[in-house]
Amino acid sequence: MMRVAAYLPDGGTGPGRLAEVELDATVVGPAELVLPEVTVCDERGGELLHGADLVYDPAAGGGPLAAAEAERQARAFGLTNAAYHAQRALRSAAALLETPLPHLLVRIGAHSSPTRWGGGHYRLPGAANPPEPHPVAPTGEVHLGSGRAFVLGSATPYFHAPAHNPAIVYHEVGHHICRHTADFRVNRLRPPDAQHSGKVALDEGTADFLTALLLGTPDIYGWHRAHIPEWDPRRRKLDARWTMAFLRPKSSGHAHANGTIWASALWSARARVLAEGGDSERFNRMLLGGLSGLGGSDGPVREEQDRRNRFSESLRELLTADPVLAPAVLAAMADHGIHSQGSNAELRARIRSTSTPVVTT
Ligand SMILES: [Zn+2]
Repeated sequence: MMRVAAYLPDGGTGPGRLAEVELDATVVGPAELVLPEVTVCDERGGELLHGADLVYDPAAGGGPLAAAEAERQARAFGLTNAAYHAQRALRSAAALLETPLPHLLVRIGAHSSPTRWGGGHYRLPGAANPPEPHPVAPTGEVHLGSGRAFVLGSATPYFHAPAHNPAIVYHEVGHHICRHTADFRVNRLRPPDAQHSGKVALDEGTADFLTALLLGTPDIYGWHRAHIPEWDPRRRKLDARWTMAFLRPKSSGHAHANGTIWASALWSARARVLAEGGDSERFNRMLLGGLSGLGGSDGPVREEQDRRNRFSESLRELLTADPVLAPAVLAAMADHGIHSQGSNAELRARIRSTSTPVVTT
């Protein structure tokens, strides 16, 4: 066990409360930590982790304008912060699934130049855009950028280093959880070196919902997207009632916005279960059970991919996973235009024929 610094979720609109936490990790190099569930390394190298004291200063994100020592502190903090949150997400999923997920590799500072990158992505081996400069671990990797800009609208300047932002870490680890449960692209049946890293709406929405659970707030990107209005889909706030009426068909390029419909429907379903006296742990177990159920069949890849792409199929798997919670979940999902039968386009047509799309908060 080691003592490190990390931001702890506080339900607010910042990165969280800076705290010291115990981490079950081993330092294996100047910029690499190994934990039972996850390995985290900084691709940019440098002597980040040295000495007995591994409690580092976030240094307002460091960044290109920071002094060398502040940048070192910020990167080292990014390593321990990302490790803490990745482990927390993986442990909570493993507890709900009652089985560990395959080991995850997190690379910080990937794809760093010449254009700096302010986000993250989840990659499997196979063709990708941008191409990966090194072989990708067959069980999946999270890549976090070096950061591109300062957080807009914050009182004091903070360089938005993705490894400092628990929401970005949780979202990307959420894709790893999806890959090894629902497996929306049916990668289990594809060749190990030709996996599909693209994300469908349900994958994005599930990752956002898991992020909200772990952060304890529906305003998951409230820190680095505070400048985007809450009603704007790009804010990706879960407690607006996004319905299937907002679905953009031919979804390429809209997976995040379409995913917000699923994320906000899950948020409503959970709220309804809690309001009726149900327990959040049980709801979470239902979700993970539903994801595993969705990925549990072995039809032809094309057909399976189409099936797993459907909101109605995901809902049906939830209902199967916990019949006791099913009535509350079904009712809440219906408010979002999600029913247990029909293609995504049919669900969209159905709600559009009965209402004009208005987002209610
Ligand atoms: Zn994503």
